[in-house]
Amino acid sequence: MRNIIFIAPPAAGKGTISEKLMDKYGYKHISTGDILRDMASRDDEFGHSLKGMLASGKLVPDEIVYEALKRRLLMNDLESGFILDGFPRNLNQAREYDKILDEVGKKLGVVIYLDTPKDILEKRIVGRRICSSCGATYNILTGINTPKKDGICDKCGSQLYQRDDDNSESFKTRYETFINQTYPLIDFYKKRNVLYNIDSINPDDTMRKVEEIINDND
Ligand code: ADP
Repeated sequence: MRNIIFIAPPAAGKGTISEKLMDKYGYKHISTGDILRDMASRDDEFGHSLKGMLASGKLVPDEIVYEALKRRLLMNDLESGFILDGFPRNLNQAREYDKILDEVGKKLGVVIYLDTPKDILEKRIVGRRICSSCGATYNILTGINTPKKDGICDKCGSQLYQRDDDNSESFKTRYETFINQTYPLIDFYKKRNVLYNIDSINPDDTMRKVEEIINDND
């Protein structure tokens, strides 16, 4: 099984597709955003400053991310492949990732760009709700994945919450950061012949196309 890197603007559907791939193929999902949010929940000075950085929508300093990612890649549960979500986010990180892969003895795999129009992304962000217990995601604005009961997870019955950075203002910063810093990775990976492009509007179509890529590369 090839490892997968998703390159995508905020709310392009990485999380949803990752959940489906985990269920169906046993991939592990490595989200640097989730790892950082977990670190930011610590009640100490480091946790507090990280929480502030995340809420602003700006990128966290590279060194913090590298250390956290290396620790995760060294755990021995990744034989069935892993999905890297949220990393690399700029060219420096992409170059460093090659070194990290060498260090931990893992392969790059395939890189998938999920292309979604900006207006759809904003609705997905502002309407996104996440289960506080199982992490399932919903949306109250797009009509796709609306929770059956207001504020409650369909799957496990726990409370839904809204991320601190899921608002219009933070979306603008995150989208601009994506265009300026992350978008150049598409060219970087295209030159290495590992890049696949998907128009990601409907989650089922996107999943079908991702599965085609996985099967073609098996
Ligand atoms: P989204 O892709 O929806 O913006 P993520 O969960 O991937 O959300 O990331 C949330 C925040 O975590 C980012 O805005 C950034 O502050 C931080 N972050 C995540 N991954 C990285 C990374 N590779 N480098 C720097 N900061 C990161």
